[in-house]
Amino acid sequence: MSETTLDPQRQEQARRYARQRRRLFLVDLALGAAYVLAWLLTGLSATLASRLETRFPSPWLSVGIYVILFLIGYGILNLPLGYYTGALLPRRYGLVTQSVWGWLADQAKAGALGLFFGLIALEGIYWLLRVAPAVWWLWAGVAYLGFTVVLANLAPILIAPLFYKFKPLADADLTERLIRLAERAGTRVRGVFTFNMSSKTTAANAALMGLGNTRRIVLGDTLLARYTPDEIESILAHELAHHVHRDVPLGIAVSVVQTLAGLWLVDVALRALASALGFRGPGDLAAFSLLAFILSVFGLVTMPLSNAYSRWRERMADAYALRATGNPHAFAGAMTKLANQNLAEAEPERWVEFFFYTHPPIGQRIRKAEEWKNQ
Ligand SMILES: [Zn+2]
Repeated sequence: MSETTLDPQRQEQARRYARQRRRLFLVDLALGAAYVLAWLLTGLSATLASRLETRFPSPWLSVGIYVILFLIGYGILNLPLGYYTGALLPRRYGLVTQSVWGWLADQAKAGALGLFFGLIALEGIYWLLRVAPAVWWLWAGVAYLGFTVVLANLAPILIAPLFYKFKPLADADLTERLIRLAERAGTRVRGVFTFNMSSKTTAANAALMGLGNTRRIVLGDTLLARYTPDEIESILAHELAHHVHRDVPLGIAVSVVQTLAGLWLVDVALRALASALGFRGPGDLAAFSLLAFILSVFGLVTMPLSNAYSRWRERMADAYALRATGNPHAFAGAMTKLANQNLAEAEPERWVEFFFYTHPPIGQRIRKAEEWKNQ
């Protein structure tokens, strides 16, 4: 088998795995919708909100407690399905190296982070609903912008180390080669790091992390173990292309526009439905589950749109990588290995690509490299 041939047996597994994950995605959606609607329709939401508001006159406290209970309830409900999707199923396909306890520890950390950021966001939203009821969604969008920019800067320093250990890459030749590649792409990086991806998964990945002073190249140890320097260079060139094409600030802008549209829709819908459902207005805590429901439906409906945007930017990044390295053979080799190793479906059906794929399917990416070779 040549280096750029997909393993047919692995592809058969990849198809089955993808199909199972899609079904679980639907179960997850149904579960989320049932949870939110249960809060709304059983009157739990209204009862809890009014009791909290009576007991705690400070809206900061009543909003905080309501949100914590809502999110923790959802977290607990989701745990069995999350365990099956995130730990059990990938283990069955040999994609996971992490112990169950390690997985649970990661879930606890991610849950605590989600609770922390969710609490800040929702306290902020309800505060804006109190002080600027007409344009709260606009200010929330502005706050979201600031928050995303800060987080994009801080995530590599503060959040990534909660899950992985980073250390400087020992291979001096490869370090120099990758830093030179970054310089050719016009970006300064603060070193090349490797992280213990193999402690959790058999999948491989690389990234350019952080903005400005925190920018660094990171390589999964799984990548170092199995890929040639040429292939690693191709993968990194793709990542650098995102920098050259300004994909991080552009992505933030797109996400802010999307968030603004979602929040505006929530405002319109909550106003229209409030009196029919017995709410005081969009700022009524009892309407929170409806707010969450509308935002989730909006996210789901716009998912194909944001995925199409993402695939377009990813195609541009692939073209850059082929130009920058001039080595389509290494690019195709890296893509083939990734598909075999990460169990990625190379040729999904069109509708699957349309709904779920943030990147072009690997089959398309390999063909692009081959066409490049023949030019
Ligand atoms: Zn990319």
